[in-house]
Amino acid sequence: MKIEIQGLNKIYPNGNHALKDINLEFGTGMFGLLGPNGAGKSTLMRIIVTLMKPSSGVVLVDGKDIQKHRKELRRVLGYLPQEFRFFTALKTWEFLDYSGSLAGLKNKKERIAEVDRLLDQVGLLEVRDRQANRLSGGMKRRLGIAQALIGNPRIIVVDEPTTGLDPDERIRFRNILSQLSQHDVTIILSTHIVGDISSTCQGMALLNKGELVFSGSPENLVKHAEGHVFKLNLNQYEYDMVKERYNVISTIPVETGWEVQIVSDDAPEFSSTCIIPNIEHAYVYYMEHKLHTDITD
Ligand code: ADP
Repeated sequence: MKIEIQGLNKIYPNGNHALKDINLEFGTGMFGLLGPNGAGKSTLMRIIVTLMKPSSGVVLVDGKDIQKHRKELRRVLGYLPQEFRFFTALKTWEFLDYSGSLAGLKNKKERIAEVDRLLDQVGLLEVRDRQANRLSGGMKRRLGIAQALIGNPRIIVVDEPTTGLDPDERIRFRNILSQLSQHDVTIILSTHIVGDISSTCQGMALLNKGELVFSGSPENLVKHAEGHVFKLNLNQYEYDMVKERYNVISTIPVETGWEVQIVSDDAPEFSSTCIIPNIEHAYVYYMEHKLHTDITD
């Protein structure tokens, strides 16, 4: 499904301008929304899932304004909010069964078959009879995604799904999402963790303080940082100077002092090697560096 966001603004009643004239467009596959805490990601997601109204601007799904077609949209939507809690003592399968009823799956036999299929998909079939609120943090997140998937949604919105997960669970979660993205669905994933955005995201946007600072492919973001990431070998005296003048992104102690990576518009005054940037370098370059200069695509 095609999603178009046009001139979107959100000003909270207390005057917080959380989204500033956001324009974005994307289709099926995975779309990553990246930015630090407070950037406006959750606000944008809550508007997309029609839990909140924008102050101005529109979101169109296949050309239809979501505010005017809420019911229709909700039928094709799955949402995993940032704060997803189980307040009930239901068993894992019962919780999902209940979510299925809410999603409109009326036939009990079919619904239970779907519950078990989804539990299997997210690796929770073995704990189907455990109380949902007794699952581990990672398992709860996976049950959360299963809940978002029941009813076969065409648009899946997941808000910061990997926060607080250990590395194993994070990889597992990412794999579930990337498998889903092969099924002609649109997945919108928000995160403040750069590593969550990978080549599985066809498109991505970078938000900062309510502003859209980049939209395009992850590869394109990385291209912006080409020629701006340098590796230097420094003694303590040089290292202290570099720390003052440049944006240091990694420091490793070596026999002769320090091996340091920096992002900089121009080659530094110290002997250095230009290195191939990765997405984390690109993120730092964009957020810390480019923001202070002009941003051109
Ligand atoms: P993110 O999800 O990127 O962390 P949010 O969308 O939660 O960002 O918040 C964006 C901005 O809006 C922040 O400055 C936040 O403090 C503010 N904000 C969020 N919710 C509210 C609210 N209900 N009332 C007032 N300000 C809010």
